[in-house]
Amino acid sequence: MGYRRGQGVNRAKEVYRVAPSKLRTYVYCPRLYFFEAHMARQRTPVERLKMLIGRIYHYLAGLVDRIKGETVEERYEAQIGGYTIVGRPDSWRRTGETIVVKERKSGRGPRSGVWLSDLLQGVAYAILLSRIEKVREAVVEVKYLSGGGGAVRVDSDLVSMALRSIEEMRLVDAGVVPYANRSPGKCAACRYRDVCSFMDELVKHQLEDGELYEPGSWVREAGSVFDRQKP
Ligand code: SF4
Repeated sequence: MGYRRGQGVNRAKEVYRVAPSKLRTYVYCPRLYFFEAHMARQRTPVERLKMLIGRIYHYLAGLVDRIKGETVEERYEAQIGGYTIVGRPDSWRRTGETIVVKERKSGRGPRSGVWLSDLLQGVAYAILLSRIEKVREAVVEVKYLSGGGGAVRVDSDLVSMALRSIEEMRLVDAGVVPYANRSPGKCAACRYRDVCSFMDELVKHQLEDGELYEPGSWVREAGSVFDRQKP
């Protein structure tokens, strides 16, 4: 559960591999990422149905993107510093010296802007593709099936958030339990809520006394919606 302030955590020397889709889970709720990494439970029938709808949506949207000349669901891998980012962006295109990454989501978007977790998944793809294409500019477009979304130019703040997430995911993979990003909607639908509450009870006194540092607590201040800048 977290780690004690002032106490180091051994970080693996080898290059850490990370998938942008998992980074999205981490930013949505770091504690949920911990459960998925260490004690994954089977998806519920409702979750499996949502996944099927998502796959159909992506397949049909991918056909349209291919007609537009975009590259769809190709696998890429590149080493960036101490990390290897590996994944399949939904679609992307290069416009001059700019990479435009498109992330499609079958879930609902916020009333305005995009979910930060969806955006940072796209930012991780943008970092990956920028390295491969050797360009410095990138835009992430997030589109929701229910309508809405947005396009955001990738800046140094977003890159920092994505890289910070990856660094913390490495700690969590090593066993550190991160911040629980609670919200009534998220937790009501979460298949780990029983064990999550139990974990909180175990350490609530250390947390109250400020003895523990939980990776991922920054997501609370960052907010779940990103609606600040346009390209
Ligand atoms: S119950 Fe809530 S806080 Fe805990 S893992 Fe699930 S979504 Fe995160």
